[in-house]
Amino acid sequence: MPKQPPVDLSAMDRAFFEQLDPAARLELLCRLHAMTVELAERLAQNSSNSSKPPSSDGPFGGGPSKPESGQNLGPKAAAGTKPSAPPSFPTRKPGKQPGAKGKWRCEALVAERTENHYPARCDACGTPLELWHETKGNSGHFVLDLEPLPSGLRVACVLHLYHVVRCPCGAETTERPGKGLVSAVEGRKRDLQPSEASLIGPALASFIAALAVRYRLSRAKIVELLSTWLHVRLSVGSIDRCIREVGLACEPIVEGLIEDLRLCGIINADETPWPQRGHLRWLWVALSSTTAVFKIGSRKAEEIRDLIGDAFLGWLVSDGYGVYRSYKHRQRCLAHLIRKGIALSDGYDHDASRFGEWLVRELRGLIHAVAQEDDAGALNLILARLKRACLLNNDADATKARAVAREILNDWDAIIAFVTNKELPPTNNDAESALRHAVIARRISFGTRNDEGSRAYAAILSVIETCRRRKLDAWDFIAKAVHVARRGVIPTRLPAMA
Ligand SMILES: [Zn+2]
Repeated sequence: MPKQPPVDLSAMDRAFFEQLDPAARLELLCRLHAMTVELAERLAQNSSNSSKPPSSDGPFGGGPSKPESGQNLGPKAAAGTKPSAPPSFPTRKPGKQPGAKGKWRCEALVAERTENHYPARCDACGTPLELWHETKGNSGHFVLDLEPLPSGLRVACVLHLYHVVRCPCGAETTERPGKGLVSAVEGRKRDLQPSEASLIGPALASFIAALAVRYRLSRAKIVELLSTWLHVRLSVGSIDRCIREVGLACEPIVEGLIEDLRLCGIINADETPWPQRGHLRWLWVALSSTTAVFKIGSRKAEEIRDLIGDAFLGWLVSDGYGVYRSYKHRQRCLAHLIRKGIALSDGYDHDASRFGEWLVRELRGLIHAVAQEDDAGALNLILARLKRACLLNNDADATKARAVAREILNDWDAIIAFVTNKELPPTNNDAESALRHAVIARRISFGTRNDEGSRAYAAILSVIETCRRRKLDAWDFIAKAVHVARRGVIPTRLPAMA
């Protein structure tokens, strides 16, 4: 295509087209067509047909989330390019493939010490059992766990031996490692059951979960890190089970966090798309200054209701998404509206662009004036100007300007709630920045694989973020939660601020 001067879209309207002579109109039409083809081709670029990296591809494999990408390919056909197939999610099951060579431990573990476990009482008669009663070994297993040193950490390998004791009454009682609650997933060969007879101890398990969730390392990188730096050799499968087990242990803690959250005066909420094996799910967050709860689910209103509840009496700070609107006390995020204003001002319609600039100036002025604690007269002046701008554009010709003006007028009370309620933030930045970590993880990992993984991920995020807000040591708490969950005990609630 020969290089031509760019088309000035902002100068064009119906009157401009009408005054052109037919030849000039044809020339313009051809240039506009060429420009549209170029833009359509650029929109259809992905890692399979351009030098774009795979991370820039949508994680949903061209599914229902991007209906426009596969449709209306007329211009593409006209430009002589074939519509490319959307990237699809691999159907291959994770883990070892049928026929692949198995992996096993080459060197036997060497225990540095042994811990013996005896039954405390006779199962038959209840008599307390003593060491001088007849005993024999029943089972044993190795446990690798982190042990703190005065400066640093080490990995200890301990052999745990479980014994059978014969009571004077003749009955034999066997001591066995504790077991937790089973988490079943349909179609899985081996269900997840936390157990004390696990090679990975609670502290090492929480360390592995920290590497995966907090430091966003892949399973393979964790295998490499543990082997290189700590000389602990574990398989990808063991690492994965361990992360899921930590999530499972965190789930009951989250129930307590939801109760704490509902008692808060101000809750910030937000949501972002989250892929679960190629399906579009949503990662929600609802948080206060001391508690954060994450959840992966649909985008329906009941998801936010599950977190906040119907009877929430405090303030909800959110964006303009419809599901939040049923809450009476609401602060709408002004940053979202400012971004809409900037988009309008960058647009090609002159009047809409001026309205956009006006909107951005007044909204920023309002935030500034409230932060400076200006007097009511000055604030009312800004509010009056803002409302006037919206009323003037309530029936504007430009669709986008009209939509923004009506949106502001319809949600007026929620937009200006922070002017009279000084404790409310004018933006939803707190919730958005809490989601940032997961948004980066989503680009690296392409989300979770099933409901169990999604629940585990959201539960670990909730506990970490809450601990950060309460200034608690999250990983120490999680290690203790894993320790008790392996005995079938429900972990305790997170304490209040440290
Ligand atoms: Zn007995």
